[in-house]
Order: sequence, then structure tokens, then C-alpha cells
Amino acid sequence: MEATTQTPDWKKLIWTGETSPKIRLLLWKITQGALPTGANLQQRGLMQHTTCIRCGELETEAHLFLHCDYARQVWTSSLFRDQLDPSAFPTFLDALTFGKTAVGLPPLGVLADIFPWVCWYIWIARDQMIFEKRFIKPEITVSKAIWSAREWKLAQPTVTQKPCTIKQVIIPDLDDLIVCCSDAAWRKETNMAGFGCIFMDKRGTVVSQANRVERSIPSPLVAEALALRWALFTALSLDYTKICFRADCQSLVTALNAHSSTTPPAGLYGIIQDIDHLSLSFSSVSFKFIARISNSATDELAKAALCTATPSPP
Ligand SMILES: [Zn+2]
Repeated sequence: MEATTQTPDWKKLIWTGETSPKIRLLLWKITQGALPTGANLQQRGLMQHTTCIRCGELETEAHLFLHCDYARQVWTSSLFRDQLDPSAFPTFLDALTFGKTAVGLPPLGVLADIFPWVCWYIWIARDQMIFEKRFIKPEITVSKAIWSAREWKLAQPTVTQKPCTIKQVIIPDLDDLIVCCSDAAWRKETNMAGFGCIFMDKRGTVVSQANRVERSIPSPLVAEALALRWALFTALSLDYTKICFRADCQSLVTALNAHSSTTPPAGLYGIIQDIDHLSLSFSSVSFKFIARISNSATDELAKAALCTATPSPP
């Protein structure tokens, strides 16, 4: 009998493409039936915890990652340009094949291979529900996936770009409020921007700081907004939960605190949406204006990143 050509080539799907080793391993386990899902445990003769913790159906890979109502809520929260309907995929491999070519919606930016990251966080949310009795909202699962995919991608070294450096000085009490000042320095000649963010505890002691460079930035306002969005990513990577962001760009802070029906300044719509999305991952978050003179340390950090960067080749 000839092998069917319809079966997706799972090896190609998993081992090619840009994603982290842990994500590939997860995909490999899913496709090999090696993940300890209820159905797989049942196959091995274990009769406990065979059903979905959320709805009571048999916990197969397709159920857990696609067909359970929780997974459906995750997938339908505007991740892709072509809306993903998980019920259209009978098996996980079918969905993985779709995910390989799916195009993320514009605000999500550089998000090739977001699909496996979402799977990763669905699995994490499932584990937290079972083992810690913690319910992770679908939108939190989505933001974590987006954030991790982007951070992973940004952390991959490229020829011309320096990865960002986070300098953690003190590990603060994570229940305390952290204040984060962010700033951007923009260079018109190269359209490059340096981003800086400084995190302080309630006593004003610097607990960590980071800077980086970003290319193809059209305006200083966009640079300020992207610097703030990146500060949110950085705060999440440092596990800060209660945070107040400060920026010296009045129109940005006003746009963030405005009612959602007001139109943000031109070019900021997608970035503001991203920031709103990321804000969901903190237990408390606020945005305040800070006078430029009080933000000079962050400004210097942003400028320092710009100074060390080399312009892109033409
Ligand atoms: Zn379920």
C-alpha cells in the first residue's frame, strides 16, 4: 500500500522554522503521543485524570489544544489575519500545518511561528489548572504567547543587531509596586531608535535597567510608544506584577489613559493595542507622565544604546 501524500510531514513542521528548543520538544511530544494527556495516560492503563479538567471530555491532543472551549477562546482572540477556527481541524497536525503559514495580525508584528507558542501556553495553563488550581484567563495565555514569541525572536542574535541587555541589580519583593521609566532616543538620519527602561522599587532604588536598539522607526512618537511597549515586555520577563510606567511623552500617556473610543495619534493605534493587551498580564498597571528633566537617566540609557549601534547595511 502506498503511503498517503495527504499526511502532513510532521518532522518538517517541527524541526524547521524559528522557534525555541523547548517549543519544538513540546510539538514533538504532541505529535508522538508522548504528552501526558488524559487520553495518553488511559492508553498506558492509567485510569485517573483521563478527562479534560475544564469540561470533562476525553483529553486528547486535539481536544486540549483545539476543540476544548478554552482553546477555542484562545485561538479566536484575533491572533491571525485569517481567523483560525479550531473546530475545522480534525487533528493537531492539521492545525499545525495551518499555523505554519498563518499570518499574524499587524499589531502583533514580527510573529512568525506564533502557533506553537500558543500551544505551549495552553499546556502551561492546563498544568496550572490541574496542579495549582489556578485559572489562567484565555487572554492572558494569548499575551504570554505573543510576548514570549517576540522576546525569543528578539533575543536571537543577528549580524547587525545587538541583543538587548537587562541588568538586574536587586531582586525586589514582587508584591511591591515597581516604577518603570521608559524613554526613546531617535535618530532622523538612520531612522534608528534607542530604547531605555529603568525599574525602581518603592524607595527609588534602581532594581534593573535595560536598553536596546530598533531599526526602521518612522518618528520620535512611534519610538516613544515602542520603547514603552518594550518596557512592558521587559517587566513581564522580570516577573514584575504591580507596576507604574512613566514616560515623558504626554500624547502617548494621554492616549493610553484615554477612553478606548478615542482615536490615538497617527501611527500609534497598533502599538497602543499591544500595550493594552500586555497590560492584562499585570495584576496592577498604570501609566503616568513624567517631566523630561526627571527622566534624564533613562534618556541617557536610550542614547547609549543608539551610540553603540551600527547602521543597517544599505
Ligand atoms: Zn475541555
